[in-house]
Amino acid sequence: LFITLDGMDGAGKTTQLDVIRQWFAERNLPVLFSREPGGTPLGENLRQLLLNPELKGQISLHTETLLMFAARQQHLEDVVRPALAAGVNVVCDRFTDATYAYQGGGRGVATEKIAMLEQWVQQGLQPDLTLVLDVPLNTALARLDAGRDKDRFEREEADFFARVREVYRQRAAAEPQRCVVIDSSQSKETVKAQIESILAERVAM
Ligand code: C5P
Ligand code: MG
Repeated sequence: LFITLDGMDGAGKTTQLDVIRQWFAERNLPVLFSREPGGTPLGENLRQLLLNPELKGQISLHTETLLMFAARQQHLEDVVRPALAAGVNVVCDRFTDATYAYQGGGRGVATEKIAMLEQWVQQGLQPDLTLVLDVPLNTALARLDAGRDKDRFEREEADFFARVREVYRQRAAAEPQRCVVIDSSQSKETVKAQIESILAERVAM
């Protein structure tokens, strides 16, 4: 299975990724964990570049989108497709939903442009399951402020994140087969239990 975990910054992705890691480890299931942007040497370089706050003002919204998909192309070719072909589950920390949310909703890139690149790069490949962690805007912003140094995206204003969140919710609602929205403002234990039950239902054992 191709599983992706997504949601706005501050939604608790990092915490719940550990839950997923542990779930697979306990069952000894073949799994590969990766992330976007990143997942390959080139992708990690692009990630570093894209997240660097010093890039602010030097990159257009379209260039940003193209670099996200450039990293994705390499990641799919070198890592994701080979793993899936070998019967290994792939769990990816962010995927194309993040591009629709951040570059589309956040920055204002036209949805049709993103859809074109998605078609080119993914050739129909879609996650089997996407877990969308959702929290109220103020909860996310408070968590971000309490956290470590902010990357370029995390420094955006509240209205940016409001648009990001809205796109995640709309996409999840439009694709209920693929997407499960999890209310990540609940306790860590509750969110953990929900994720475990979804995995038990969806992952072949
Ligand atoms: O650790 P995290 O997954 O939050 O880091 C990735 C960062 O890259 C996020 O802050 C997210 O805003 C940004 N991103 C993006 N567009 C994507 C993927 C990630 O803006 N397509
Ligand atoms: Mg982040």
